[in-house]
Amino acid sequence: MTIQTVGVVGAGQMGSGIAHVLALAGYDVTLMDVHAEGLGAAVQKISENMDRQVARGAIVAEERAHALGRIRTTVNLPELGTSDLIIEAATEREAVKLKIFGDLIPHLKPETILASNTSSISITRLAGRTERPEQFIGLHFMNPVSVMQLVELIRGIATSSETFEAVSAVVQRLGKTAVVAEDFPAFIVNRILIPTINEAVYTLYEGVGSVIDIDLSMKLGANHPMGPLELADFIGLDTCLAIMNVLHEGLADTKYRPCPLLVKYVEAGWLGRKAGRGFYDYRGKVPVPTR
Ligand code: NAD
Repeated sequence: MTIQTVGVVGAGQMGSGIAHVLALAGYDVTLMDVHAEGLGAAVQKISENMDRQVARGAIVAEERAHALGRIRTTVNLPELGTSDLIIEAATEREAVKLKIFGDLIPHLKPETILASNTSSISITRLAGRTERPEQFIGLHFMNPVSVMQLVELIRGIATSSETFEAVSAVVQRLGKTAVVAEDFPAFIVNRILIPTINEAVYTLYEGVGSVIDIDLSMKLGANHPMGPLELADFIGLDTCLAIMNVLHEGLADTKYRPCPLLVKYVEAGWLGRKAGRGFYDYRGKVPVPTR
């Protein structure tokens, strides 16, 4: 099956990024969100990000104009039903995602493929709630989508090879690189990355190093482009904690227990950059460590 029309559910940081790269690759995109104002903000952000790509010569102005012309927005989920592929990128809560797929089912054409951008929730479990688990797959983009090269493909237990091939062809047309992950908690990238971040928070919690020294150690000592604590702030501490909880519950191993200090920051609402404060305070001119 050749995919040309794509519906994207959720116009947050991931959904808007996914719409951006799809439109630039020539797909006709319908971007849906429950919040109309979120859709306006998403299109504005896509347009600004494409301006930056034009400024640095990555694309020409004509490509930007054509791509923006290929993005339609709606608050009506059923309008996505005629798409060849629907990518769900709504909030990381299983109940939210199950409701979206349940609401979509009566409106889908028979050949529509369903994909979820979930960071950690079981693809098999999400697929099992639809009437087409063979046409369901995990399609996990990295943040920021327009910059990051990798996409994880996750087969549910029933995902057909036709679905896998069709979605692999989309990743290829986007110019991105796919890796295949089995459907176990948090897949590959977050299985390794989020416990690393959690360990960095333990290192802070136990007083082994300061925020600055922990980040500097991993940047200069392990050649990471960002320190683990600034990366945690970028991802969102609530998202990091949600993924640690999925690992802890899904694998039942104490090595995945979330650091109490991470829990405390989330309880305080210090969720990282998006909240203005996390392991660093972003409200001034330069980020200042909060411990
Ligand atoms: P976000 O909070 O920026 O955006 C979520 C969007 O979903 C919001 O605009 C919200 O209004 C919308 N939404 C909520 N309920 C909805 C519904 N019923 N129908 C339609 N839209 C709805 O979150 P995000 O960071 O874009 O994450 C979205 C998904 O992508 C999550 O599953 C997350 O785990 C995954 N993800 C996130 C990252 C990351 O680094 N942030 C990376 C890879 C994958």
